[in-house]
Amino acid sequence: MATCIWLRSCGARRLGSTFPGCRLRPRAGGLVPASGPAPGPAQLRCYAGGLAGLSAALLRTDSFVGGRWLPAAATFPVQDPASGAALGMVADCGVREARAAVRAAYEAFCRWREVSAKERSSLLRKWYNLMIQNKDDLARIITAESGKPLKEAHGEILYSAFFLEWFSEEARRVYGDIIYTPAKDRRALVLKQPVGVAAVITPWNFPSAMITRKVGAALAAGCTVVVKPAEDTPFSALALAEVNQGFLLDLDPLLLASQAGIPSGVYNVIPCSRKNAKEVGEAICTDPLVSKISFTGSTTTGKILLHHAANSVKRVSMELGGLAPFIVFDSANVDQAVAGAMASKFRNTGQTCVCSNQFLVQRGIHDAFVKAFAEAMKKNLRVGNGFEEGTTQGPLINEKAVEKVEKQVNDAVSKGATVVTGGKRHQLGKNFFEPTLLCNVTQDMLCTHEETFGPLAPVIKFDTEEEAIAIANAADVGLAGYFYSQDPAQIWRVAEQLEVGMVGVNEGLISSVECPFGGVKQSGLGREGSKYGIDEYLELKYVCYGGL
Ligand code: NAP
Repeated sequence: MATCIWLRSCGARRLGSTFPGCRLRPRAGGLVPASGPAPGPAQLRCYAGGLAGLSAALLRTDSFVGGRWLPAAATFPVQDPASGAALGMVADCGVREARAAVRAAYEAFCRWREVSAKERSSLLRKWYNLMIQNKDDLARIITAESGKPLKEAHGEILYSAFFLEWFSEEARRVYGDIIYTPAKDRRALVLKQPVGVAAVITPWNFPSAMITRKVGAALAAGCTVVVKPAEDTPFSALALAEVNQGFLLDLDPLLLASQAGIPSGVYNVIPCSRKNAKEVGEAICTDPLVSKISFTGSTTTGKILLHHAANSVKRVSMELGGLAPFIVFDSANVDQAVAGAMASKFRNTGQTCVCSNQFLVQRGIHDAFVKAFAEAMKKNLRVGNGFEEGTTQGPLINEKAVEKVEKQVNDAVSKGATVVTGGKRHQLGKNFFEPTLLCNVTQDMLCTHEETFGPLAPVIKFDTEEEAIAIANAADVGLAGYFYSQDPAQIWRVAEQLEVGMVGVNEGLISSVECPFGGVKQSGLGREGSKYGIDEYLELKYVCYGGL
């Protein structure tokens, strides 16, 4: 097998069904592979330093369908974006595997929807516990495949696990209604029922959390899922399946299997190469057995999937791209604004959908803000391999991403922008770019109307509040927006006028499982996380109860 580290590509044993009333699913030992040699640490170190010593069973290469690890006819390579080293070859699923996964999910749905909310809650809670127990290993997988600094990867695993914890709690709080109609002999009931099988397509920038944010809600509601992770980051999605398979390791062996693991077919993962993404996406998003499409990724891909949904009339949740404005008003506290700018711009090296894309700074505070921002960048940002202690800025996901940032910088400079710091590729390698601050930026520059997804902070100077809001709202997307002000009246005005789904007021980090995440305009449809997230996976059914 052409893998560079020891990665298993075999069908793991699966002893019987795991639905209620069925047999125990015995597992022995720790998180060890069911067969095959143990990985040699020297081999691991040689090819992927950060994965040395990682439990081999967590590094799965096969698809996970109907509770079984299944190889595909072909494989595709996954690389460490920092070094370019191959991490492994992963099953390259096609339409056939996609359809099989949908069937498995549908069969499982017919039984999973009957599982009590309390039991679904308890299973999600156990999955959460296992993620926490394996958090260090799961974080290292994220850093290896996405390049994200290890500290941030740890943060993502907690954030990811918290969605399972949160939705384990929400699973038990799905209520219906009783409505009194004008007819005295009738009552109207409103039931909430699971939508069905959900096709879940996720990006590489949060390889774990973008999955649990959807899957936690879906499973809590009684739906089952087929997950297609991004080509660059399939290992995190597959590791989530392995973690949940490991339930019996940590539980009383006398527990029923149904109480110990998410049943077969409820969580399916079909990794595929970028070459196959279009047809696999179409297969799962048009299949009549699928009732819901939940997507996180670019607006361009989201529109393709919306076409699929339209043709077969499916429910959708779309978490798409943004162009977050970060506005600093004259009344702002400069130090607070700089701290918020650092957090909102440079998390994951600028590769988050809520990263600030353009900085609008009022004339009176402009120079002080730019000076302090540049100093903070030079002092606090360290570019390096995500596994190295102290790294805050890892590589971008691939060279295409670097080219995009480079193009935006060159375009801005050619139109009169000034480079305050950074401005070019980083000497560390082809996927690295220097954290860059530009000033004298104007609205005709590419970086002000195209999502950057990289470590570039362009600053536009403005004079009035109306002008700043007009610039911010000119975007055809509206995910997050941030502003800094000490004026309470202005805070109300601006928070209400910004055309975005999420606003940070004097705060640069706003994501939290308790709060609704999502955008307006072309940033998407629906909300994830929070008490609203589960509704995306529930249908309302009205029952008219007559003859009373
Ligand atoms: P992307 O190119 O749209 O890819 C996202 C996912 O869609 C990947 O799994 C990709 O597979 C798949 N895909 C691509 N083309 C497809 C097609 N024709 N049919 C079905 N699936 C297809 O986005 P990305 O560049 O990976 O991610 C970055 C984008 O995601 C940014 O715009 C960012 O703002 C957005 N994002 C939004 C949120 C949010 O919550 N709103 C969160 C994170 C990221 P491959 O990997 O194989 O191409």
